[in-house]
Amino acid sequence: MSRDAVESLLVEKKHKDLSYKRVLSSMCTYPHEIAAYAHNMFLESNLGDSGLFPGTKEMETELIRMIGALLGRENVYGYLSTGGTESNIQAIRAIRNRRKRAGLREMNIIVPETAHFSFDKIADILCVDVKKATLDDALRVDVNSVEELIDANTICVVGIAGTTEFGQIDPIKELSAITQENDLFLHVDAAFGGFVIPFLAEKDRYQFDFTLDGVSCVSVDPHKMGMSTIPTGCILFRENSYLDELEVSTPYLTTHGQSSLTGTRSGASTAATFAVFKYLGQEGLRAIVTECMRLTRLLVQGAKAKGIRPEIEPVMNVVTLSIDEVDRAAVALKAKGWEVSTTRKPKALRLVIMPHVTEETVKLFLEDLVDVI
Ligand SMILES: *Cc1c(COP(=O)(O)O)cnc(C)c1O
Repeated sequence: MSRDAVESLLVEKKHKDLSYKRVLSSMCTYPHEIAAYAHNMFLESNLGDSGLFPGTKEMETELIRMIGALLGRENVYGYLSTGGTESNIQAIRAIRNRRKRAGLREMNIIVPETAHFSFDKIADILCVDVKKATLDDALRVDVNSVEELIDANTICVVGIAGTTEFGQIDPIKELSAITQENDLFLHVDAAFGGFVIPFLAEKDRYQFDFTLDGVSCVSVDPHKMGMSTIPTGCILFRENSYLDELEVSTPYLTTHGQSSLTGTRSGASTAATFAVFKYLGQEGLRAIVTECMRLTRLLVQGAKAKGIRPEIEPVMNVVTLSIDEVDRAAVALKAKGWEVSTTRKPKALRLVIMPHVTEETVKLFLEDLVDVI
């Protein structure tokens, strides 16, 4: 095909994709302009063979410290992954390998009922039993349920700082106490919340990071609220030795070993994350979260004024509305051009107020919502 023909084919396919404008179902958004710029500049960079790309490697090293500092501890160890799924797999793989070396054969982990579906993949790939703890009235994990599930084969407890469906934050401080008492690994899945909670006005209410001594590992996704490009996740361990549990030797590369799950690994998304964090700084990220939260409150107030109740008072920029026949409402909203999603239990309409959402969008959505109901 000619260059022109390929280009017009691309344009045709691009037109079929949705713009994020009326997407209220996704935790992704447009990357920041400077992230796209940096991504493009480092397209060929491969952190899987980082000896060839020492400049990109420096950016990753600095990012680990920057993100660690934001999450309560500059002195952490990790790498930039492809997202929350890889980070969760690696967290559980690290502790599984350690306990396997110590001779444990049957192993289980305890996750909240609200855990992301990546834990279903983990059960399959890592051959650990995934036990689900029940929730309290506010849809946080019930710590009594977690304690009851702990047995001699338990290796890890997972807490979620920003659940995918409800945007709720588990009581990580209590989980930290329980895991310290029982000598268990505590993984905090902050894929979505890690770049939201530190910037909330009420952040002191939600301790969730390395400031809690029991927290062994935190995962957070720059490609969600970090305004970076896809694919970028980040996994951070309190102790360097957990990276050793993940390491395999890489005889023909510029490095001796590799702890990441993927082999070839995008340096472009690392450059994108580095650029956007340097450019925005914590103040810039805070401004984005503050605006998302303002629009979240506006949406909830508007819904309440029409007699529609939120499932929980929003903690972050995720709104869940209690609506009768919610599946039919979702279909009707889609017919009006909105992308919305629903939760499983309790069943509700789920809306994520990402940085691409504007006040105008919220107002138009509320009108259509009232219409549909
Ligand atoms: C999005 C999400 C994940 C998965 O992240 P991917 O980047 O989609 O792999 C894991 N956990 C939570 C809490 C999430 O919100």
